[in-house]
Amino acid sequence: MQSLRFISAEALVSHPQLAQQGLDSVAHNLYPLLFKASYLQEQAEVVCAVLGHWPLEEFRLGALLGPSADHPEDLRDRACRACLEACVRGLASHVLHGGRQRLRLADLTGVRDVQVQRCPCRRALGRWGRTELLARTCCELQAGPPVAGRPIEVLADLFVTEGNFEAVVQALQPAGPAPLRVRCPSFRADSLSPGQLLHVLRLAGPGTLRKLEVVHNVRLHAGHVQQLLVQVGFPQLASLTLPTKAFDMPPTCAPSPGSEDSLLTSIAGELGRMAYLTELSVAFSTLTGKIPTLLGPLRTPLRTLDLANCALNHADMAYLADCVHAGHLEVLDLSGHNLVHLFPSTFFRLLGQAAQTLRVLTLEDCSIADNHVGMMILGLSPCRRLQEFRFLGNPLSARALRRLFTALCELPRLRRIEFPVPRDCYPEDAAYPQDELGLARFDQQKYDLIAEELRVVLLQAHREDIQASTPLYGSFDPDIEETSNELGAFLLQAFKTALENFSRTLRQTE
Ligand SMILES: [Zn+2]
Repeated sequence: MQSLRFISAEALVSHPQLAQQGLDSVAHNLYPLLFKASYLQEQAEVVCAVLGHWPLEEFRLGALLGPSADHPEDLRDRACRACLEACVRGLASHVLHGGRQRLRLADLTGVRDVQVQRCPCRRALGRWGRTELLARTCCELQAGPPVAGRPIEVLADLFVTEGNFEAVVQALQPAGPAPLRVRCPSFRADSLSPGQLLHVLRLAGPGTLRKLEVVHNVRLHAGHVQQLLVQVGFPQLASLTLPTKAFDMPPTCAPSPGSEDSLLTSIAGELGRMAYLTELSVAFSTLTGKIPTLLGPLRTPLRTLDLANCALNHADMAYLADCVHAGHLEVLDLSGHNLVHLFPSTFFRLLGQAAQTLRVLTLEDCSIADNHVGMMILGLSPCRRLQEFRFLGNPLSARALRRLFTALCELPRLRRIEFPVPRDCYPEDAAYPQDELGLARFDQQKYDLIAEELRVVLLQAHREDIQASTPLYGSFDPDIEETSNELGAFLLQAFKTALENFSRTLRQTE
C-alpha cells in the first residue's frame, strides 16, 4: 500500500509547473519521494528539476526506484528514456547551480534492462545509450566555463564500443578540472580493438572494477588477456567474461607447447591474485586439457562457470567433478559437450557435487538423446534449488521430453525450462548439432501440438509457475538489441577487410 506521503507527492508532481516552483520549500527528506513519484508518472521536467535541486549528499538511482515503505512498487526495471535523460540533464544543471550544491555522489547504477518497457513512453535507454549520454554530458561540462565546488563522483555501468569510445575516453580523461568524475563498477566492451580496450580500461579505474565483460567483436588472444591482467590489474574483480578464442596463441608466438603453457600459467596466476573472483565465463575458447591449470590457482570458489564449447576432455571433466568449485556452483554452462555419452561418471559426479547450490544449468547441444533421459532424471533430481534448466539443441523425442518434464515438475524452485524442438518434428535424416538452416526446418504444427502436451504435463502437476519455451535463436539480450546495427557494420567491415587482403594476396601471387 502507498503511504499518504507518497500520494501527496504524486499529487504535487502531477502539476509539473507547480512542483518545480515549489521545490525550494519542500523538506529535504521528501526529495526521494518526489523523485520516485515523478519517475513513476514520467514527469521528465520534474525529474530533472528534483535532481537539479537535490539537497542531500547522495543520489542513488537504484535505491530510489526500488520498493520502499512509502511505495512498495519496484521501478528498477524501467529504463525509461525520458526519465533517464532527465536525470542526466538534472545532474548537469545541479553542477551549473554551482556554490550551493551538496551532492557528492550520484550512483546511476541499479536499473535493469528488460524486453518490455512498462513506462508510459515505452522507450528504453539501454546501457550503451546511458554510457553515451553520460560521456557526452561530461564532455560538455568540461568544455564549459569552470564551475565552483567539489567534483561530483558519478557511478555508472559503462558499455563501450567503437561508436562511443571517443566520448568515453574524453569523459574519463579530462584535459582540465572536471565537475563530474565517472567511476564504473561494471564495464562491458564490444567492437573495440585490443589497444582501445586496454586504453579505456586503464582510464576507467580498474582498481575498483567489480565486473568486466569483453564480448563478441573484441578479438583478444591469450597474449592480450595476459597483458590485460598483468598490466592493468583488477584487484576487486568479482566477475570476468572473455570473448571467443581468448585463449588462442598469439599469431606471432612460436607454436611450442612450452610457450602455450607459460602463457596459460601466467593468466591463471593473475586470476589467482584476485581475491573476490567468483564468476568466470570463457565460452568458445579451446581449453582442452587446460582446465586444471586455469582453475587450480583460483583463491575463491566459483559460483558462476561458463565453459560452453570449450572442447573439454576427460582430464578437464575429472578435475571439475572433484574441484573445490563444484560444491559452490550456482550457474553452470557446459553446452556443446557430449557429456552423458563421453563423460557420464564425471559429469554426474559434478552435478551431484553442485546439487545443493545449482540455480541455473545450461546444457545446449550436448547430444542428450532418449536413451540418456533416465540418467538425466537421476542426476537432476537432487538439484532441489534449480530455477532454470536450458537444454536446446538436444536430439530428444516428444516422448522423452514428456518423461523429463514429469521429473522436472518435482523440482520445487524450477521456474524456467528451455527445451529443444522435439526430434520428431525434424526430417528423419536431420543431423545434430544443427546449423541454423537445419534448425529452422521443422514441422511447426507438430511442434505446437507437442509443446501444448508438455504444458499439460506442467498443469497436471500444478506447476503453472514454470515457464517452458523454445527460444530457437536465443533469449532477449538488451545489450545486443541496442548495438546490433553497430555490430553488424563492424562485422561487415571486418569481412570487407578480409576480402581486400585476400584479393591483394592473390594479385601478389599472380
Ligand atoms: Zn518512459
